[in-house]
Amino acid sequence: MATLQTIEVSVAGMDCAECTQHVQQALQGIAGVESASVFLASEKAVIKLDPDRADMAAIRKAVEGAGYKVAGQKGGQDDPTSASPAQAFTRQLLTLFGLLFGVVLLIVVVGQWLGLFEQVTMWVPLPVGVALVLIAGYPVFLNVVRAAMRRQVISHTLMTIGVVAALAVGQWVTAAIVVFFMRVGEYAESLTTERARRAVKELISLAPQTARVEREGAEVEMPIGDVEVGDVVVVRPGEQIPVDGEVISGQATVNQASITGESMPLEVGPGSRVFAATLAQLGSVRVRTMRVGADTTFGKAIKMVEDAEGQRADVQRLADKFSGYFLPVVAGIAALTFLVSRNPLSTAAVLVVACSCSLALATPVAMLASVGAAAKRGLLIKGGKYIETLARADVLLIDKTGTLTLGQPQITDVVPLNGLAHHDILALAASVERYSEHPLAEAVRLAAKKSGLPMVEPQDFRAIPGSGVQAQVNGQTVAVGNAAFVAGASQLPQARTLQEEGKTLLFVGYDGKPAAILAASDTLRPEVPAAMAELRQMGFRQIELLTGDNEQTAAAVAERVGGISYRASLLPEDKIKIVKEYQSKGHIVVMVGDGINDAPALAQANVGVAMGAAGSDIAMEAGHVVLLHEDWMLVPELFRISLRTMRVVKGNIAFTALYNIVGLTLAALGFLPPILAAAAQSLPDLGILGNSARLLRPGRNAGQAEVES
Ligand code: ADP
Ligand code: MG
Repeated sequence: MATLQTIEVSVAGMDCAECTQHVQQALQGIAGVESASVFLASEKAVIKLDPDRADMAAIRKAVEGAGYKVAGQKGGQDDPTSASPAQAFTRQLLTLFGLLFGVVLLIVVVGQWLGLFEQVTMWVPLPVGVALVLIAGYPVFLNVVRAAMRRQVISHTLMTIGVVAALAVGQWVTAAIVVFFMRVGEYAESLTTERARRAVKELISLAPQTARVEREGAEVEMPIGDVEVGDVVVVRPGEQIPVDGEVISGQATVNQASITGESMPLEVGPGSRVFAATLAQLGSVRVRTMRVGADTTFGKAIKMVEDAEGQRADVQRLADKFSGYFLPVVAGIAALTFLVSRNPLSTAAVLVVACSCSLALATPVAMLASVGAAAKRGLLIKGGKYIETLARADVLLIDKTGTLTLGQPQITDVVPLNGLAHHDILALAASVERYSEHPLAEAVRLAAKKSGLPMVEPQDFRAIPGSGVQAQVNGQTVAVGNAAFVAGASQLPQARTLQEEGKTLLFVGYDGKPAAILAASDTLRPEVPAAMAELRQMGFRQIELLTGDNEQTAAAVAERVGGISYRASLLPEDKIKIVKEYQSKGHIVVMVGDGINDAPALAQANVGVAMGAAGSDIAMEAGHVVLLHEDWMLVPELFRISLRTMRVVKGNIAFTALYNIVGLTLAALGFLPPILAAAAQSLPDLGILGNSARLLRPGRNAGQAEVES
């Protein structure tokens, strides 16, 4: 058994939600393919296969058999961009031809109303009319026939039957006009998905293509794929930074709007972290490469947005299921209409007016637009599923350190307890904390560094999430952590005053006894109170602070952010338990955290929101929603986006459903001639387009950023 391989293939020509299903089925039918998911927005298929049994030729054949084209293998040798323009051109040409033909026909129809109709049918013999219909509708008919050969019925199948019915009774002008509107409808559909894809595409287009790399003393311009970790890249003023890395020399102001949505430029110098796809506005820097391409924060962000289509919302699943029943129902209504009225034209009208595609598009188009627009502002939502859940959430749980606070605590006090010198304590603590990722560890290291103290290599290092760290330093066991973690630390009188100041306490245990208390204070993010007020205004009743920190500190912070409730001295397991508790009572829980220590709780929440995730793998992976920009105002904005999106989705669904019901009824009763039915059929897509495009407009906060840039 060979190991399975996952490949990505660009698929061109999918402009309808139905199409992804067809491609997916075709791919899953290949021997050796274990699974395949097809995405409309990113126009790709992700295929898991056994490379010994399935190859590109088989994939190509399957995709083409389903009526679409393979535009290349992503990340492989094929350049996906080279094949598509030509195809796009042919498609445009065909559409143009259809449209032109339609315009000519419309003139004919106007003529018909002016009483020239008899002459038209007199002058143009029926076979010529039929030929014209076939030519104009050729691409649609071809798809229908192809689908039929795979025993699939698509929405155009029914319409085609309608066209045939019209031809059968000699109404070739009617048939031709129906075909015209079928083409218009097709165009409207591709316009709709195209528009929804735009934000995502704009984002992808920001990906760096080349880098100027120092190799053997010279600067070499090379494709981004050839840059390696460790390479030094040179970035000049006005240029895009091509990699994630660390500045080793130079100064620059960097605009990170492309990944965080924040257009306020940042000063960087030696030691600063910089991110791929951001812009060096002034000054130039040399950057040591830490990550390239898909591994960069930007690369990961794009992947998340592309994969977002895979996490379908429940409403979409419902709509998809409903679409499955839709065609048989329409066929049934058509049959009934014919049996009762014996009128082939009413029957044709029923077949032509139904539009299952717009029903299938109603949700994904809105979700796509929303996810794309949010991503451009540094707000990554990993799927429509989460938008839907956010819109219904009623409990908000918040982690403290690094989430409500800046996560850059400063050590303010060092209180020795048993004779160890101030400096020795700091040096020991910093050595134990050497490899901890916790913000408090960073504070301890910083304090030691400021006093010019050396760090020693710790032995047997252990980190206990939510409690502290422990290691051997110079042969002695040293522990740094909260009161419960360090033996004998819980009843120290010196601790009380510090806690009442709202400080976080770290106890240093040495040789099994408490040796010192370190106090750290962390700055509250300045925008938090305003964000909380806004969340309250939006109707959030249950907002709760969860922290591993002590009671007094938790109380002080909760008070300062506007009197929210809190639970203190929690271990990471306790946080998960609390999330589960709420869930078992039927609440929908959103948890905001920084991914450090709280990743499992984020995962357990119905929606986990990871803050300040740029450059942090854990945070990017932990959250269902990832905020690349550290700004609490994005939290109420996230809820606003979700509510707005769901309003649009519901509007889209209600609109198309109503449209279909009214249209089918009128057609069945004979009030809607096939020509009008066909015209009506192409309208819902445009309605969805217009309605969903509202989501592409920037929200309140982004508006300001846009003005500045
Ligand atoms: P929060 O829930 O506020 O994000 P954590 O769960 O990360 O806090 O940590 C809870 C407490 O555990 C901290 O207040 C601190 O006292 C202790 N602690 C955790 N990790 C460390 C560490 N690396 N060094 C020192 N103390 C730690
Ligand atoms: Mg934390």
